[in-house]
Amino acid sequence: MKKVIIITGGSRGIGAATARLAAEDGYAVCITYLRNEDAASAVVRKILEAGGEAIAITADVSVEADVVRLFERVDAELGPVTALVNNAGILEQQARVEDMDSARLSRIFATNVFGSFICAREAVRRMSTRHGGAGGAIVNVSSAASRIGSPGEYVDYAAAKGAIDTFTLGLAKEVATEGIRVNAVRPGIIYTDIHASGGEPNRVERVKGSIPMQRGGQPEEVAQAILWLLSDGASYTTGALLDVAGGR
Ligand code: NAP
Repeated sequence: MKKVIIITGGSRGIGAATARLAAEDGYAVCITYLRNEDAASAVVRKILEAGGEAIAITADVSVEADVVRLFERVDAELGPVTALVNNAGILEQQARVEDMDSARLSRIFATNVFGSFICAREAVRRMSTRHGGAGGAIVNVSSAASRIGSPGEYVDYAAAKGAIDTFTLGLAKEVATEGIRVNAVRPGIIYTDIHASGGEPNRVERVKGSIPMQRGGQPEEVAQAILWLLSDGASYTTGALLDVAGGR
């Protein structure tokens, strides 16, 4: 069966690393992005140059119509989706809870939580044996923040990732007899652009001393865990929350 993967937020960081590894592993890859077309095109170009199959689609995961259109395009251009990585995620500027307004909370939950729900819904409708599908696997990209709470920085983001953990547990059980495995990775502090969007580009350097392994992680180290959870090697693993956080 052809392996077809959708990776949301695949233009940069952990998503881009996952796209490269998935292509090496024989997946036809669809990455999504929000605005950064040049970065998304570069990821696709590298995969094509290496002989793989890849497309990039702009789709805001917080907009339901965008997600529906994304899955329809993948149906038409690559074939039935067999793997989904709910990776797109955002931070806002570091702040205390007493300084957060509801517009900020709406943005954080719309992208980090609702987007993952709607993408998973579209995937389940296609993968579930209940709907005539051939099964598949979903990996949600949560965060160690869901365990730690991120005080003084982004409790909103940490709480959204807590919702992703619970979503992973519930959906995994809901579709366990329908050929679909659902797991999450919880990265620790990884070298990507996301820290700049939170207002502190050098955050990894500041906090790495608090990590038992005394270093930040590379996007590829998270991507390896994602690919394993998607693989047949993880055939009895569902509802797992896999920490990829250097012991933190
Ligand atoms: P990143 O480098 O900031 O990249 C974010 C990606 O998400 C980009 O491809 C971006 O597209 C896309 N994106 C943002 N908002 C989107 C939306 N509304 N719809 C669709 N795509 C959207 O992030 P990252 O650090 O690789 O993080 C990836 C995931 O890992 C996130 O869920 C994050 O919460 C989680 N995580 C990261 C860390 C870490 O330390 N880096 C730790 C724990 C968990 P554009 O390029 O078009 O902007």
